[in-house]
Amino acid sequence: MNFFIYTFGCKTNTYESESMSRLLSETGRYRAVSDYVSADVVIVNSCMVTGESEKKAAKLIRRIRRENEKACIVLCGCMPQVIGEAAFGTGADVICGNTKRADIVKAVDSYFEKKTISRDMKIFRVEPHLKDETFELLAPDRYKNLTRANLKIEDGCECFCSYCVIPFARGRVRSMPPEDVFKVAGDLVNSGHREIVLTGINIGMYGKDLGLSICDAVKAVSEAGAERIRLGSIEIDLISDAAIEELSRIPGLCPHFHTSLQSGSAKILKRMNRRYDPEEYMRKIGLLRSSFANASVTTDVIVGFPGETEEDFNDTVEFVRRAGFFRIHVFPYSKRNGTAAAGFKDQIPVEIKKQRVAALEEVAAELKKNFLTGQVGKTVNVLFERSSGGFARGHSENYVEVRVRTEEDLKNRIVSVTVSGVDSSGDFVYGNIG
Ligand code: SF4
Repeated sequence: MNFFIYTFGCKTNTYESESMSRLLSETGRYRAVSDYVSADVVIVNSCMVTGESEKKAAKLIRRIRRENEKACIVLCGCMPQVIGEAAFGTGADVICGNTKRADIVKAVDSYFEKKTISRDMKIFRVEPHLKDETFELLAPDRYKNLTRANLKIEDGCECFCSYCVIPFARGRVRSMPPEDVFKVAGDLVNSGHREIVLTGINIGMYGKDLGLSICDAVKAVSEAGAERIRLGSIEIDLISDAAIEELSRIPGLCPHFHTSLQSGSAKILKRMNRRYDPEEYMRKIGLLRSSFANASVTTDVIVGFPGETEEDFNDTVEFVRRAGFFRIHVFPYSKRNGTAAAGFKDQIPVEIKKQRVAALEEVAAELKKNFLTGQVGKTVNVLFERSSGGFARGHSENYVEVRVRTEEDLKNRIVSVTVSGVDSSGDFVYGNIG
């Protein structure tokens, strides 16, 4: 039978979708196809971070049902893990959580077995996260369409930021033992991946359950032979000064740090239950920059958090200017049921949120152009991802997109490039090989 997986959300979800695809294909009874119209099974791997992502999953299921009526539709991931049986309201046939991703094969098999008995068969497989739950080892063999390979090393979060539903969706921290990190990373390297991206729900908490730290995971990947190692999003308060120093000595670690700021206002950070103040954040990114040459820092900011005044918002704008971020992902605050902030009285009107998103995105574009301009004249190592139309494009170690004019197919090659200029779009730079 043909199957198709549609993935919403984060790199961890991408990793889990690739792993589910491998498990289904290995049975010999299921074959991956490239669209949902010709699939017998369509799996929607959902995300719960914002109200938008929840709505998009429901809308997609309605469209699949219209365009492929006979398909068995599976809704899995963070959305059913949080809303449970209410997920059947989307019209899906099979509902799976994110505790046991490997159960996807059993769930789909049992749907077809039981379908022979009753036409409107529904399967529900959502189990609660348990206190003593351990890390579920899933491993894609390789990423067919990606040059960089995601490697999920951690699951769960115990921070309970007041706006965030993820701890309810993902449970307590579970870490992949370093010997498995070494093995899976080795498999990805042997299958041709030259860069490995360490991902998880909160990788800064990696090892909390094993008495280890993120440094141990990075070392295991480096020892497995990865030429480049990139950290996924990491919380600034969870990387100590000592860890930064230790990380700076591990060969191959890319000088790019995505660390969510969320707000530049100390008052709002407190209300968000974030575990740092603006000055401590600034000190830490300063330390990252002094420990890694030509480092880039990218971040996320939520605007329109309940109680955010014009003055608080201006604090954020002033802070991001001072921090000189390479990129800023700007999100309007999204109320999530079950979170502390959903109960806060002073919610911000949508119109104000929109204005603040627009204003901050303008500043973000300016800061990005400044950062890219600062790369001109520098020599960087670019991992090329594709070649077309006389150009090859890829990313440098500090995650700048670089394009060079060449007829040669540089896909999956790491080449030294001298940056020559910034494109007028302000999105990438040009360079010359050598
Ligand atoms: S650190 Fe905060 S924002 Fe990040 S997953 Fe955990 S609770 Fe959510």
